[in-house]
Amino acid sequence: MSNIEELKAKVKAAIDERRDWLIDIARTILDNPEPGFHEVKTSRYVSEKLNELRIAHETGIALTGIKGYLRGGRPGPTVAVIGELDSLRVLEHAHADPETGAAHACGHHCQIGMMLGVAVGLMAPDVRDALTGNVALMAVPAEEFIDVEYRWNLHQEGKLGLMAGKQEFIRLGAFDDVDMAMMVHTSAAPEDKRFSVGGTNNGHVVKYVRFVGKASHAGGAPHQGVNALQAAMIALNALNAQRETMRNEDTIRLHGILTRGGAAVNSVPADVRYEGRVRGRDAAVIADANAKMDRCLRAGALALGAKVEIVTIPGYLPIKNDEALMDLFKSNARVLVGASEVATHSSDRNRGGSTDMGDVSQIMPVVHPYTGAATGTGHGTDYIINDYEQAVINPAKAMAMTVVDLLTGDAAKAKEVLAKSPPPMTKDQYLALQSSRLVEEVYEPV
Ligand SMILES: [Zn+2]
Ligand SMILES: [Zn+2]
Repeated sequence: MSNIEELKAKVKAAIDERRDWLIDIARTILDNPEPGFHEVKTSRYVSEKLNELRIAHETGIALTGIKGYLRGGRPGPTVAVIGELDSLRVLEHAHADPETGAAHACGHHCQIGMMLGVAVGLMAPDVRDALTGNVALMAVPAEEFIDVEYRWNLHQEGKLGLMAGKQEFIRLGAFDDVDMAMMVHTSAAPEDKRFSVGGTNNGHVVKYVRFVGKASHAGGAPHQGVNALQAAMIALNALNAQRETMRNEDTIRLHGILTRGGAAVNSVPADVRYEGRVRGRDAAVIADANAKMDRCLRAGALALGAKVEIVTIPGYLPIKNDEALMDLFKSNARVLVGASEVATHSSDRNRGGSTDMGDVSQIMPVVHPYTGAATGTGHGTDYIINDYEQAVINPAKAMAMTVVDLLTGDAAKAKEVLAKSPPPMTKDQYLALQSSRLVEEVYEPV
């Protein structure tokens, strides 16, 4: 057995030894779901677990985020292993919090188990000392871009700059000493087999919209009111009329929810709020679709004589998976589950959704594989992890083994990855792009 194979065997044995502990962590987080920037209990829990492992870490990054380090025997590149802290809100999910509707309907609870599993594996005797470089363990808040009004208010209060976890980690400098990053997401899609690598997804911008009308008696004096709900309905119908102008290959998605429809049934609605999303395959097509959305929002206001306040919030950039990292991850995944159970998606295969790992991928090499460990519909009431071995243990092993590949010897593989893949933009360019996408408009027809 080569030195690398011996180290990987030790990594796997150490993770197996902590199998029940790791799965129990994932299940505990499942039963205590908290949406983005509310992950107070979850964050405290992760910190306790890191303390149990005696891993020094910082808390409170981007409100609830955590970053710890495992330092190798010699200085070298730093590889981040990321777990997402946040849940969604899906009412009626089997594991939903009855009070908040929060539910882990995207499997993020498994990612924290994976991240701690990587730590456990790399802390096996002799392994850590054999590494040239460091591992940054990052528990990151708020990947699901929900509760837009709450986040916008945090931004207005100066508590957040960018309004999603990894975006804000980048802005705050938490990625400044990181050279490359990896995480694994759960999947229920059969085409992801037990593991999949590759593919891309949509980028997006986020909309926070308020239609302002005039309240009056809905029965006695509707002529004195301005109905903000009707303005919103015209806007949303106009948006539907736009759909035929979208090209399939741009994978545009226009969607949203009304978060406030009025205050009382007998008063003409005067304050109606909409949270929306404009997704697409690149920044240019997103900008085009976003301009159409803004026209529709204005059209609703114009028709009713209402006012509309439109905030466009910088969302995510499409993900670019690094080929060399994919190859390393894939070869380890194959060892664990067999070659026939590891799928490779072409780089232009678009999953339709979005992730802020896309933002990280613009400034450093990343890999974001999926693990087929769930059943049901992603973000649906029936999205359930049915195989915790595949949801937590195997991804932890695959990532830890990939770290061994990257950082053993003089970290030659990590240096090779960095030399091969200069990132599309610098951190400063990324921050400038995102700040240019933040636009506030008030449209009030006269
Ligand atoms: Zn999700
Ligand atoms: Zn997710």
